[in-house]
Parts: sequence; structure tokens; C-alpha cells
Amino acid sequence: MSNDDDKLTADAVLESARYLWPCVLCGTPTRQRGIFLPNKPGQLGAPKNKYRRVIYALCLQHPRNKQTAEAVENYLYSLPSDELIKTPRL
Ligand SMILES: [Zn+2]
Repeated sequence: MSNDDDKLTADAVLESARYLWPCVLCGTPTRQRGIFLPNKPGQLGAPKNKYRRVIYALCLQHPRNKQTAEAVENYLYSLPSDELIKTPRL
């Protein structure tokens, strides 16, 4: 991953934060975001030998800890990969 990729990701996070998205764990509308870098990107629809970053909404009521990270990861891996490229807007 390059600095250009980091800038693209940062820009995408800022753009997404203009909108309320449902928190992936509880559904509460939020502008808070997280970025998931899967170690199995193929399971999230990435082409072979490509990586994927997933921007998701996570409201402030969830502690930022390993348990929350695992819950988010399990949720994202449970989605069909085409669900991940949708932009929910409330
Ligand atoms: Zn939440």
C-alpha cells in the first residue's frame, strides 16, 4: 500500500463522513468511521493478489478494543461482497 492509497482512503473516509451511516454493530446513525484492512481480502471480493480496505460506520457507544474489532470483522466477513461496495445513506 502506498501513500497515494492512504490519501485515497483518507479522502474516502472524509467524503463518507458527510453522511450518516448505520453503525455496523447496532444500527445507530453515525458519522464515525473505521477502516478494516482484511487479511483475507478475497473473502471480501478483492481480486487475486489485491488488497481491500473497507470503510465502515461504528458509533461511539462501542469501546475501541479487541472485542469490538472482532465483532466488526465477523460482521463484515458475513456480508456478501457486493454489499460492501454499497454506500448506505440515511
Ligand atoms: Zn453502534
